[in-house]
Amino acid sequence: MERKDVLAMILPTEELDEHDPQAYLLLYQACVTYVHAEYEHLPLSERPKISIQNIETMVTRSPRELDDFPLSHDCDGCRGGVNAARTALLDNPKHLAAIANVYYTEHHA
Ligand SMILES: [Zn+2]
Repeated sequence: MERKDVLAMILPTEELDEHDPQAYLLLYQACVTYVHAEYEHLPLSERPKISIQNIETMVTRSPRELDDFPLSHDCDGCRGGVNAARTALLDNPKHLAAIANVYYTEHHA
């Protein structure tokens, strides 16, 4: 089954800028962790195999750029995550907002 999700997070650092590969690495790692965490409530034997197809990313200090990022999934949860990141960025303009569209496939045996 094909699935899509949006992950938005704040990187509370002034040491990275929006072009630093480390910021993207942190975002990718968070996406992989987030997707697998969605199945943690299932017993190990019932968890599907997951293959991540694509991760579209943006790292920015600009709330407007955050608003312009096209979301792959438009549900309350995904929009809420982006809204929370925008609010946090407005409170801490030196931090970085990191956002990703994650596309993945569940393989059920
Ligand atoms: Zn969603």
